[in-house]
Amino acid sequence: MATATYLKNAGIERRVFGEPMSFWERQMPKGMCLRSSWDASHIADPKEELTLDAYCRESGQSRTKPIPLNQFVEYGKWYQRKAVPDVEKKLVRRVEQNGRGFVVTLADGESFHSQRVVAATGINSFEARPKEFAGLPAELVSHSREHTDLGIFRGRSVVVIGGGQSALESAALLRENGAEVEVLARQSALNWVGLHPKLHRLGFLSKMMYSKRDVGPAGISRLVAAPHVFRRFPRSFQDKAAYRAIRPAVAGWLGPRLKEMKITLGKRIISAAEQGSMLRLRLDDGTERLVDHALLATGYRVDVTRYDFLAPELKKSLKTANGFPVLRRGLESSVDGLHFMGKPAAWSFGPVVGFVSGAEFACTELVGSLKKSNGANTAGRR
Ligand SMILES: Cc1cc2nc3c(=O)[nH]c(=O)nc-3n(C[C@H](O)[C@H](O)[C@H](O)COP(=O)(O)OP(=O)(O)OC[C@H]3O[C@@H](n4cnc5c(N)ncnc54)[C@H](O)[C@@H]3O)c2cc1C
Repeated sequence: MATATYLKNAGIERRVFGEPMSFWERQMPKGMCLRSSWDASHIADPKEELTLDAYCRESGQSRTKPIPLNQFVEYGKWYQRKAVPDVEKKLVRRVEQNGRGFVVTLADGESFHSQRVVAATGINSFEARPKEFAGLPAELVSHSREHTDLGIFRGRSVVVIGGGQSALESAALLRENGAEVEVLARQSALNWVGLHPKLHRLGFLSKMMYSKRDVGPAGISRLVAAPHVFRRFPRSFQDKAAYRAIRPAVAGWLGPRLKEMKITLGKRIISAAEQGSMLRLRLDDGTERLVDHALLATGYRVDVTRYDFLAPELKKSLKTANGFPVLRRGLESSVDGLHFMGKPAAWSFGPVVGFVSGAEFACTELVGSLKKSNGANTAGRR
């Protein structure tokens, strides 16, 4: 939505496709809260008129901390009505290269030509499932993205796999909804964020340490907030700093809801098998668990070749690194005229572009580059 708004503001002709806020509404559990701060959760618009504050003023709501998922979804829909009323709520089925650009085919069969394509299609295609769970039925194993209502597990025993925000918050929501829960994670300790709010209230000193983009700890937060600087560092440093910025971590405000939660750390699952109507898990410490369900809060792993709307020939021409498209200025891929926004841009521009707060940079960069090139007759899509 931010991309569409920036393009329109720059007078660049575009069509916009997709279902606004669908990932937040359909792939996250009711009752969840955002981990990002208020200041890092405004959807970017070039005039800075469509902030969360503006939404709250208009709808008579007050600031909340943390931000509840349903409030953020409503904010996103408000943003869409104001800034992108022309969004076409249709899926793009195929993007193919032709000599002068791309042929875009929609799910309803319409086909048209576009000089450029901007894929801002998120991470929903990239769910990561540990191989030990391959082939098991959906009643026994599911990924966190498959649930909006964790209340369906009331009265059942559930093992949550993972050690980040999604795992721990899902565990809290499951227990609050009457499930018997254990969290299993490979890491030896949980990483907490936001435990020292005072560090954010030191005026100038805080500004030196933390960017309002709210990605990463003191210092790294500043570095990743400047993608053009960050991308000049050697790859090995970028990889380490990016991992440190977005490693699995749990928001401090979740702490009280995890009291007496059964959390087993430093253990790997070596096998998972059906046993009657239950699931038997074997861990690397020799212990076993017999449970009704395993919830995989194991995140997402970018692999743009899993975007099924990209034609196979186009995927072949796409230069990638670890599944991410390699992008140059303007977030443009090795296929001229094909741009990637959001998380897929993170290998080239650093972790901040994978978050709501990174859209301002990404949109400014995209539009700046399009203006420079002579391709002003551009169609964008989400
Ligand atoms: C559990 C969880 C919690 C998170 N919490 C935060 C947080 O607190 N703060 C934060 O900044 N980020 C958070 N994130 C990351 C968040 O997903 C991204 O910041 C945000 O969704 C990125 O926006 P996006 O527009 O790139 O992708 P999305 O929001 O996923 O939007 C993708 C859009 O593309 C459309 N689309 C996809 N395929 C097609 C197609 N073939 N044709 C047409 N349209 C298509 C979809 O309909 C959708 O509208 C969280 C992620 C998860 C999984």
